[in-house]
This record gives sequence, structure tokens and C-alpha cells, in this order.
Amino acid sequence: MKLRTIAGFFVVLSLAIVLTGCASEQKTEYAKPVIKTWTKTIDEKEVRYMTIDGVMVHEKDPAKQPLPPIVTPGTPSCGEKAGTAPSDAVVLFDGTPEAMKNWTNTRGEKTKWIFADGALECVKRSGYIQSKEKFGSCQLHVEWASPVNVKRDGQGRGNSGVFLMGQYEVQVLDSLNNITYADGQAGALYGRKKPDVNVSREPGQWQTYDIVFHRPIFNKAGEIVKRATFVVFHNGVLIHDYFDLSGGTGWGGPHAATEYVAHADKLPLKLQDHGNPVRFRNIWVRPLKD
Ligand code: MG
Repeated sequence: MKLRTIAGFFVVLSLAIVLTGCASEQKTEYAKPVIKTWTKTIDEKEVRYMTIDGVMVHEKDPAKQPLPPIVTPGTPSCGEKAGTAPSDAVVLFDGTPEAMKNWTNTRGEKTKWIFADGALECVKRSGYIQSKEKFGSCQLHVEWASPVNVKRDGQGRGNSGVFLMGQYEVQVLDSLNNITYADGQAGALYGRKKPDVNVSREPGQWQTYDIVFHRPIFNKAGEIVKRATFVVFHNGVLIHDYFDLSGGTGWGGPHAATEYVAHADKLPLKLQDHGNPVRFRNIWVRPLKD
């Protein structure tokens, strides 16, 4: 009898753990679409109907299914000729000296990074640069070029970084014939995930990152309830396919990355000063829903 009681206690405990686990998983799930289907007989034929969240599939009435807003696309960059942003983007750097006003150092003061030949260039020991405007989840387009004069190796060669929300680094590095740890080469989510492939161009050539980032979400206690996700294209090639970031990307020691630390819903975009004169251009952001 006593053994049965103990066994019963553990069964109840296990169930509680399973149920609690399910409940916490459900917290992070997106709402599932409501799909309804039915059939009607028209001209003696059975026609199938479907609504998704109350909207009929192939609905033509814009009052019931509004058409998407019209966006004028930008132009792609080609070699030394920089492209342009789509019409609904927040343009942070368009190759004009006036665009420098969109940036400050991390203390909110005038940056010491320089404007040179239509690009924004890092100056050694000037510190990170950050956008005045703050962003959360977003689509980001940014172009960069490591120095044409190759100096040093590994993490010392053409190092910079694109920091979403000033926190989560997509590594910038001259990674052509430059051996370093895989989770620290160009396109890596620093210390957390290597790029799926190495699509690096020659030093000095312009390279693109197209990033779809969804910010992490924290509860009031500062605990993570939804992790950040990344989709990243490097020079048009997919290198992170909806990756669920397991923590921070900061330096946590030679073999460790930092953990998530709760932060605001919107923060500046930062570019890293790692001591190398890396150039940036054609930087634009489209804010997204979380
Ligand atoms: Mg870096």
C-alpha cells in the first residue's frame, strides 16, 4: 500500500512536470490560423470553400482582403555603384555626407568615424558607431568592405560587426583565405552559430548582408520568453535559415558566449570598431512586427 502511494505520487509529479512544460512551450507559440472548410453544390458539381482567419481563399473584394501597400523597390548595388533603398525603408546611410547625422558614438556624441568616397569608414579606437533611431524586429540591408590592403590574420583581418539592437552581432571579417574559428568568420552569429557557407568576396570588394531579425522577448522578471531569430543572406546566399539564437553573442571568454540579458524593446543599430578601417554603405531598415 505504501509503495503504491509513493508510485502514485511520482506519476502525479511526472504529469505535473509534463503539463507545466507544455504550458511554458505554448506561451512562446504563435496563434494558429483558424481554417474552416465546407462544400457547396454548384451546377451539380461539388465546390470546396476555405477561409483562413475568416478570409476566403482567393478573395477578390479588397474590402474583405485588403491589397498589400505599394512599395517602390530600390536598385541593387553593382560593384562600386551603390544601390538604393525601397521607398518604405528607414535610410540610415545613403552615401551622402548628410547621412552622417543619423549616427553618433555610443555616448550620443558626434562620431569620429569618417565619410570617405560615399562610404562610412571605421576609425581605429574611435569606438562603436550607433544609429540615432532605435529598432526592434526588422529587415536590415547593409553593405561592407574589408580593407583592400590585407594585414594580419584571423580575427585581426578586416574585423567589424553589425549589431542588431546593439546586442546581437553578425560578424564582419575578411574571411577569404583567412583561417579563424568558424563561429567567428564573416556572417557568423558571433560565438553562437557559424554561417552555413562561406560566400566571401575579395578584400576591398563590396559585400551585402540582408537580415531578417526578430527580437527576443523578455517577461517583466527579465526572463527570456521568446528567443531572437535570424534569417541572413550574405551576398545573396542564405547563410542562416531562420536560426533560433540560443543566447547573447558577446565575448564570454575564449570558449564561451554571453547569455541573454533583458533589454528594451527598441535599441540602436551598432557597427563595431575592432581597429580595422572597414567601410559601410547603403544601410537601410524596415521595421517588422514582433
Ligand atoms: Mg566583429
